[in-house]
Amino acid sequence: MLKKKMIKNFTWPLKVATHGVESTRLYPEVMMELPAAERGIHELDATTCIGCGSCARVCPNSCIEMVPYKYGNPLKNKKMQFPQIDYGRCMFCGLCVDECPVECLKMGKNVVMTGWEREDIVKGPGDIAARKHSAKEVAEFEAEAKRIAAEKAAAKKAAAKEGAAKKAPAKAAGEKAPKKAEGANDKSKNGGAS
Ligand code: SF4
Ligand code: SF4
Repeated sequence: MLKKKMIKNFTWPLKVATHGVESTRLYPEVMMELPAAERGIHELDATTCIGCGSCARVCPNSCIEMVPYKYGNPLKNKKMQFPQIDYGRCMFCGLCVDECPVECLKMGKNVVMTGWEREDIVKGPGDIAARKHSAKEVAEFEAEAKRIAAEKAAAKKAAAKEGAAKKAPAKAAGEKAPKKAEGANDKSKNGGAS
């Protein structure tokens, strides 16, 4: 048995050297091919996420926190929040993915999540967003939101002005009517005296 092992100790390095057999992983220079079912860091489509928080509620380890993110969908709701995942607690069960009503969250293939600090393994929407709006798109959304708000304010102002203009003649007529009545009363009084 010992003899067999000794022979293998000589033949294996020889085989590696002559046949180019991979004796060790070349990670991180060369990433090994991962199985199709591998679950890595989540991928979020921030452009379709509706910020419902279902993923955070279903997570058994409470590792999802909803946080604001500018490049999601600022036109829909500026206060909308997006998932931030703490990979120090995530067990990659995939329940959050199953629960997402719009299928904007999925398990990605990136398994590299090392860092020097504890915070380095807490990935915000900016880190996990596979799709997000660009700064230019966000600026356009904001300009559009401002335009819509200005239009609404102008329409409200015009409606208020129109309402006031309609009320004015009615008010004037209402003021005249008592005067007439007063005049009639005076006449009847005078008539009574003569
Ligand atoms: S994969 Fe599981 S543990 Fe990780 S965030 Fe989703 S629900 Fe939570
Ligand atoms: S990722 Fe899905 S479940 Fe989570 S907040 Fe967005 S839409 Fe809701």
